[in-house]
Amino acid sequence: MQLGAVADDITGATDLCLMLSRGGLRVVQVMGVPDGEFPEADAVVVALKSRSIPAADAVAQSVAAARALRAAGAGQVLFKYCSTFDSTDQGNIGPVTAALMQDMGSDLTIACPSFPAVGRTTYLGHLFVQGMLLSDSPLKDHPLNPMRDANLVRVLQRQTDLPVGLVPIGVIRQGEPAIRVAFAAHRAEGKRIVIVDTLEDDDLRVIGAACSDMPLVTGGSGIALGLAANVIESGQVAHRAAPRTMAAPAGRSVVLAGSCSVATHAQIAAAKAAGMPALALEVEALATGQQTADSLAAWVIAQPKDAIPLLYSSADPETLAAVQARFGQHEAGVMVEQTLAAVARRLAGAGFARFIVAGGETSGAVVAALGVTMLEIGPEIAPGVPWTRSLGTRSIGAGGLGGPDLALALKSGNFGAADFFISAWSLLEPSVA
Ligand code: ADP
Repeated sequence: MQLGAVADDITGATDLCLMLSRGGLRVVQVMGVPDGEFPEADAVVVALKSRSIPAADAVAQSVAAARALRAAGAGQVLFKYCSTFDSTDQGNIGPVTAALMQDMGSDLTIACPSFPAVGRTTYLGHLFVQGMLLSDSPLKDHPLNPMRDANLVRVLQRQTDLPVGLVPIGVIRQGEPAIRVAFAAHRAEGKRIVIVDTLEDDDLRVIGAACSDMPLVTGGSGIALGLAANVIESGQVAHRAAPRTMAAPAGRSVVLAGSCSVATHAQIAAAKAAGMPALALEVEALATGQQTADSLAAWVIAQPKDAIPLLYSSADPETLAAVQARFGQHEAGVMVEQTLAAVARRLAGAGFARFIVAGGETSGAVVAALGVTMLEIGPEIAPGVPWTRSLGTRSIGAGGLGGPDLALALKSGNFGAADFFISAWSLLEPSVA
């Protein structure tokens, strides 16, 4: 293993895996630190669910993951977080970065959330989302971590005692030697973490090159572009062309959508218009027992064998607000997530082997219920979303399914074009189109 990564959520980890795979590396994603050995790969990404948990827990989990990766040979570790720097004044980006630096003996690291391919850029330390300051973007109203300050030097400095500095775009554009000089100057001044400006992919490549000897790098999945290139250029690993299709296990296909985001709504509408059998989960019906995991799974199983059923919970904003007011925001979400996860488990037991799951939290719940522990990364369906294949599962439930082999597309709610649920299948071999 050349490169190890610790990602703070599951779809973020998958997104990072896709970037590393596109960079020519053979990459595997593992859910948490495995009990046994890491799989054979050029890069391993450990997916945690540590973005919004108490900082002390995030620190403990992240340090344990990084130690395991280094013990398995990783010469460099990337701490991966969201390209919109999702965090609060309590953390978790600052505390986790500080703890990892201390554990690794790192004297300077970067913070590089930029991901120009999806419109996240950093200019003079200010993060932009699709051309809008972070603090003017929809992230200002995020339910868990409202981002009201776009100045990342300030944002990060509120989260850590380690002095935070900035390498501005003017220096980045002078190239790798100038960036290394700037790093040395920051070190001499006592700075420990530097925000690096980035406007384009080429900036990520040159920043990556300048960080080749840092034990720890932190950022969004964009920086993987530079880090993967370092591994290839070191000559330790042969460039491997990113897969264009993926062999998929035989079995039926299903779409489970638990995201209420705009992109997922459009994907549901397109799937229905294309004639996919579709059924909506209703929180009220779940609460009264009118709908249960058993009844929903039975509906999916009863659909024609050559059809791809869609089970979705995605409510429009008014319905969602009403449901949340009645049942509680957290409670309603958990009810939906747990039901979809329980349905997925029943379907895996009934011969379903190909799953598209929409929603970050939803994906986490489904993957945990299926007992998936490792994912191999397949072809890109859309920016940030690859097909993946489960490499191993923990035994599920008392009966134990004994490790079903699954093809999984885990889609962050807002990713993918409107035809995602229809067209993604064509990348699987044999095609089920
Ligand atoms: P995204 O990637 O779009 O953020 P997530 O799965 O991470 O999607 O989050 C969506 C959240 O909304 C989940 O917790 C899910 O259970 C919840 N949710 C989905 N549909 C409903 C609904 N109809 N009513 C209440 N909560 C819902």
